[in-house]
Amino acid sequence: MGFRLPAPELLKELKNAYNGRGNARLAGDTNDTLVHIEKLPARPATFGELSSPLPPSLSAALERRGIRQLYTHQVESIEALRQGHNIALVTATASGKTLSFNLPVLETILKEPDATALYIFPTNALMNDQLATLNGWLDELEEAGKNIRAFKYNGGLGDDEKKAVRRARPNILLTNPELVHLSLTAWHKAWPEFLKNLRYIVVDEVHTYRGVFGSHIAHLLRRLRRVCALYGAKPQFVCCSATIGNPAELVEKLTGLEDFKIISNDGAGKNERYFVIWQPPTFVGETANATAEPVTRSYLEETVDLFKMLNGYKYSTLCFSRLRRYAETMYRMCQEQSSTRQMQGVTVYRAGLRNEERVAIETGLKKGEVGGVFSTNALELGVDIGGLDAVIIAGYPGSQMAVWQQAGRAGRGDKDAAVFLVASQNPIDQYFLANPTALFNRQPESALLNVENENIARQHLLCMAKELPFNRADLQKYYPESVIKLAEKLLAEKELVNRRGYCLYPGEDNPHARLSLRTSTTRKFGIVNTSSGREIGLIEPPNLYTETHPGAIYTHAGETFRVERLDERANKVYVRPEVTTHSTSSVARTTIKMEPNPEERTVTLRPGLSLKVGRGRGEVVEQVYGYREEPLFRRNSRRADVVNLDYPLTIQSHHELLRLVLPPREKFGMIAAFDSGLHGLEHLLLGLLPLEVMCDPTDIGSTSDGADILHNAQPVIYLFDSCEGGAGFVHGCYERVEDLLQLAYSTVKSCRCAAGCPACVQSARCREANDKVSKQGARQILQFLLTA
Ligand SMILES: [Zn+2]
Ligand SMILES: [Zn+2]
Repeated sequence: MGFRLPAPELLKELKNAYNGRGNARLAGDTNDTLVHIEKLPARPATFGELSSPLPPSLSAALERRGIRQLYTHQVESIEALRQGHNIALVTATASGKTLSFNLPVLETILKEPDATALYIFPTNALMNDQLATLNGWLDELEEAGKNIRAFKYNGGLGDDEKKAVRRARPNILLTNPELVHLSLTAWHKAWPEFLKNLRYIVVDEVHTYRGVFGSHIAHLLRRLRRVCALYGAKPQFVCCSATIGNPAELVEKLTGLEDFKIISNDGAGKNERYFVIWQPPTFVGETANATAEPVTRSYLEETVDLFKMLNGYKYSTLCFSRLRRYAETMYRMCQEQSSTRQMQGVTVYRAGLRNEERVAIETGLKKGEVGGVFSTNALELGVDIGGLDAVIIAGYPGSQMAVWQQAGRAGRGDKDAAVFLVASQNPIDQYFLANPTALFNRQPESALLNVENENIARQHLLCMAKELPFNRADLQKYYPESVIKLAEKLLAEKELVNRRGYCLYPGEDNPHARLSLRTSTTRKFGIVNTSSGREIGLIEPPNLYTETHPGAIYTHAGETFRVERLDERANKVYVRPEVTTHSTSSVARTTIKMEPNPEERTVTLRPGLSLKVGRGRGEVVEQVYGYREEPLFRRNSRRADVVNLDYPLTIQSHHELLRLVLPPREKFGMIAAFDSGLHGLEHLLLGLLPLEVMCDPTDIGSTSDGADILHNAQPVIYLFDSCEGGAGFVHGCYERVEDLLQLAYSTVKSCRCAAGCPACVQSARCREANDKVSKQGARQILQFLLTA
């Protein structure tokens, strides 16, 4: 793209142009747009030496690529695999991870031509990218007279193509979890040679295997290990991960194995980068009277401006946003405001693109021909796209890990680069605006999963029995006692039958077909358009009642529908098309029954003051009794009245719970809005929890009671995993409640709003539609708890 300013000079110009735009004059406020600039120093590459050289054909291929030395982490990986270890490779995007496992895999196959390896990728884009890289190697090896075969095996192949892949006896098979589930384990008899010779299982991007999806994968990998054992193979695992707080714990939980060697010393060099925290301007009293609430400019508009500005400065820029809708909206806004010439080389990257379109963008990026891309987090994973001059992260992407994955895309050749985090109105973004250095000092979150989730384990045990009957000793090799107990329960329920001490799946059908690796329930409701009679979508509990109760407005592919009725017997939701600019939000009451005697700890917050934190299971009863219907963009704060349903819809389910029992109310002294303050505190904890454990905001729910009769009328807050049976999220916060409370206090203290806003005590997920939520009250409660 020709000459561009070095990053420090660019930032100086941006400061001049943007700082001081707002006019908010609340105590302690800054009107600066570039709130913080952190210089991330350059890091030189470090290289290592292998104890014994690679086979000549591999060394020659490396040399042709201009690679004369291997990075330290690549050397460590190769040595550890040669010695028979399982490894977890925890290094940045574009650090040459692929080479760390391709070299030892190819080395093994060159020595033992029958050896096989299985590569598992969470997305098809990654699989295609890696296959292209691998084929480059294999073509060169073929010229050297070595015939190594690699194929992809995914849902896009027809039955004949799949058969052809199996017949071709691949050395390396690239696939995804779904096909491991539906083919390699379910139909292991179709893969005897491949499984018998299986030496390596490479699981790429393991940090994506968390929560419900991760819990499924943990079972799937155990099933895979078990069928391998049947054919006498004991493959080594190579797990690749982005930087997370608990790589060792994650890979052990995922695979059920314990002897992993963690390789995290990233030897790849990095140039200087500048990380900017960017605050959209806030204006007070522009339009209305002096007491009006401050108005903050939309962070999406702000991002488009910045993107255009960077583009003008000849910075090739990649802009990440959380949702496809946002990426597309920003691209459109950019298009409307720019000339055709300016838009040349600007594009949008998201899931759902055709393969050619995606590859064209990836190649354009790699060659440096693309001027700018609006992307969803699809490009956060390791697809090889080279580096860019700048990365904009539009809104905190949900985890520290994602921040660094996305920031890792900045930096090309020997030039410096810039990263921008444009803050949205969410509490976490606001927290980082007020505490910018925390973004650089916080430990990355932990990735959690729960192999003991009963709903998930139950389905996999059935699949396992169908694959090969098991007995108790068999299960003990893979599972904790609770899962073994569950197998006994399945026997009692006649889901499994006992034949000479072995558990058998009694049906002729295939339990694999009923299992979806991405959800915890098998119950799905079809959404039927009554005017066409066609099914337009599927919805599952728990969203069923909150999003498709009678009267709800349901949006599908940009069209709006009104829910007419819900047929629970037929598992159907009937909707009719209705053109409207309104949306509905359900209102519900939540009650919780925790199982007796949960694990409990006392947290002393300050001398003489403590609260009790409990961790256990329990029943969550949610009663959706009505909804509010309001324009999509509400112009004032007056809420519409609640429309009551003819009869309430009750969802009753078992979850993992975290319970906070606060000190007795009278200790707090006079707090005028105590109950609504507690409600605000509940929202703050809910909104900030993803800073501690890696999860989506929708993965957790909450409720609170200012005077819980089960706890001597003490105030109680409950947090729970929203997936039935639990995914390990709230339990992962058991030890970190103090941190969460501190985060909540700091957020509520520094929020600019007067009476509470979505950046602090209000929550988009509030079941009571943010009725009775007090910022002042939340602040006073936290002040009492945390300061003497
Ligand atoms: Zn606020
Ligand atoms: Zn609420």
